Amino acid sequence: MEEKYQSLACFKTRCLGCFKIVEIPIVSDFMYGSFLFQTNDGQDFYYANLLDVKAFHFIQAEIERIPLIKKKSAFKVLSLVADQPQGKRFTPNYPVCPRCQTRLLFHSNDESKKTGVRYFKYATWKKFESLSDEEKLERIKNALNIR
Ligand SMILES: [Zn+2]
Repeated sequence: MEEKYQSLACFKTRCLGCFKIVEIPIVSDFMYGSFLFQTNDGQDFYYANLLDVKAFHFIQAEIERIPLIKKKSAFKVLSLVADQPQGKRFTPNYPVCPRCQTRLLFHSNDESKKTGVRYFKYATWKKFESLSDEEKLERIKNALNIR
């Protein structure tokens, strides 16, 4: 299967951890259902439109059903059970600084801060989606340390 890419505008922002100017992609408000996932080391970003992600629909339904995971966001769960590109996990604290991994608190898609458009690979949940419903639930509980 051919690899899909999504083009996204990137913007400059200042990290309050290392005070360096860093560049991150931001999805526009008009791209409904679009989210970005970022590897733990902050180096790589992956795109997903959650409306097309089967794992998202499953997780959303389970979150409603199970009191223990009700307070967790579907985004957090998704980032923890996603396929790991090059063995890297996704951070549940998106977005983080690519240099020092401090969470970036202020970022905006202000035109004056735009640096350009880049292409990003899609995040996938193939491994998770291949599990049975019971296995999926186990995987979610494991990821959230719920026993
Ligand atoms: Zn930093």
